[in-house]
Amino acid sequence: MTEEVSVPESHPRYESLLTRHRIEAGVERGITSKQGLIAEGRGEAFDYLLGEETTDSADRAARAAAAYLLSAEHAVVSVNGNAAALVPEELVELADVTGAELEVNLFNRTRERIEAIADYLREHGAEGVKGLDADARIPGLDHERAKVDSDGIYDADVVLVPLEDGDRAEALGEMGKTELVVDLNPLSRSPQVATVPIVDNIIRAIPTITEHARELAGDPAAQQAAIETFDADAALADAKRRIREVEA
Ligand code: ATP
Ligand code: MG
Repeated sequence: MTEEVSVPESHPRYESLLTRHRIEAGVERGITSKQGLIAEGRGEAFDYLLGEETTDSADRAARAAAAYLLSAEHAVVSVNGNAAALVPEELVELADVTGAELEVNLFNRTRERIEAIADYLREHGAEGVKGLDADARIPGLDHERAKVDSDGIYDADVVLVPLEDGDRAEALGEMGKTELVVDLNPLSRSPQVATVPIVDNIIRAIPTITEHARELAGDPAAQQAAIETFDADAALADAKRRIREVEA
């Protein structure tokens, strides 16, 4: 999958090792924060408990997310340091297939890191990356954490936020946005306030959403059906049940 990893794909924990490598490399390149390293560890623990696979329930959530992105007036995919380090190419592809924009949006915001992430996305084929203007504010958050682009997340009706902090997820929801959250922890506030919580590793979730988007593109009736049949509470309950019932 990637050149910097010497772990064979046949290794039973290949994906997990690959993930760690990418996050580590992200820190070295200045795109992932040290906090991001800690978030990764938290995510991995939940992935382990969930069996390190996309559950049927997470797959349905990914389908609903694809439908929302396709039927949006203005969809934006928010990109932080972990997302960029783990799935740069996949994010660009998702944006291409759904017509969504990419906006760099950081919890620990620094100009250097934003630019490094935007460059990294461009290296992977992105055009017109947003997040550098930061000329609007999400109400209800302190100054630095609230910054977004006025013609990006601020204006969007649908926002995909992978690995988002609970406060910001809540504030975006209060702005009336449809929020699609990728987060491995079903107990975290971000998936709980999401219109669509996708409880899956971002490494699997983004390609899964793209795959559904390819299938749903140009079919508004199928998009509508995916949205209407999706039940967020059931999705969270499924993930929690799966964790409780895990067997070694
Ligand atoms: P809360 O939102 O409850 O305050 P938190 O502070 O633990 O939770 P953050 O550090 O703000 O969460 O965000 C990291 C979140 O991203 C965690 O919930 C973690 O489980 C999740 N996460 C980390 N790595 C991944 C990944 N590769 N794929 C999906 N989710 C991940
Ligand atoms: Mg969280």
